[in-house]
Amino acid sequence: MRALGIDVGVDKGLDLVLMDERRVPLQVVSKARLADVRRVVTDGNPDVVAIDSPPRWAASGKARLTENELAHLNIHAFRTPSPEHSEGPQFDWMRAGMQVYREVEGLGYPLHTGGNFRRRAIEVFPHASATVLAGCLPPKGVAKRVWRERILRMHGVRTQELTTVDRLDAALAALTGLLALEGHHCSLGDPRDGMIVLPVRALSPKYRRGALADDGSDRLFRPCACGACDGFVQAPTEFARGHDAKRKSTLWRQVRDGQDAIEELKRRGWRLPPEMG
Ligand SMILES: [Zn+2]
Repeated sequence: MRALGIDVGVDKGLDLVLMDERRVPLQVVSKARLADVRRVVTDGNPDVVAIDSPPRWAASGKARLTENELAHLNIHAFRTPSPEHSEGPQFDWMRAGMQVYREVEGLGYPLHTGGNFRRRAIEVFPHASATVLAGCLPPKGVAKRVWRERILRMHGVRTQELTTVDRLDAALAALTGLLALEGHHCSLGDPRDGMIVLPVRALSPKYRRGALADDGSDRLFRPCACGACDGFVQAPTEFARGHDAKRKSTLWRQVRDGQDAIEELKRRGWRLPPEMG
């Protein structure tokens, strides 16, 4: 099994990392152009192509639902506007990314819109992948490069050749693709303007800053995932003792409240929210 991760840049070009299920980078290419994408896809035959940029513009306004939903989790992405707001040079990298989607679609990897990921292109966001894999935002004072490399190593990725942030991001994209193929995934947003794929099955209600052990060891502490306390637990543990049960009862209560809301909408003859069909 192989995944190709693509970090999109304009002047600096693309960074490509082709990774197999052992988490070994088989090919690492910097300053790549579309011709290099073509070559690596044709020779490497990846099962999925994971691209760090939006596949299309927002249907309306100045952001897509996927970015707004990430912001609710405290994960902040560059917003993708609708075409009429997309003129400026700050959006050139998005245009470059859309060309990459077109290129890989021509090579037999259309954009994933649901179902199996095999031979699909998916949108990923390395900062979000790193955050959900660690269970927290980077601890204060930890550089982006150090943080992302650490998370890749936590997941068994060989990082010797991943010498720049762009290569690390392409590797996080590829790792996200592999994990998605292995069944670890969820997506946010609306399929009409693109959904960012995240490499875990269940998200925390909100991500907060983690903390490193103060004894200089490699231990990482992350905020408890219950969303209702200020406790920290040692990664990869998600919950403080007993707080998984607290989280479950919160979700049960929300489901029951939701059921009550659905029934009231029906009684009043009102429609369900559009995303619920
Ligand atoms: Zn808790």
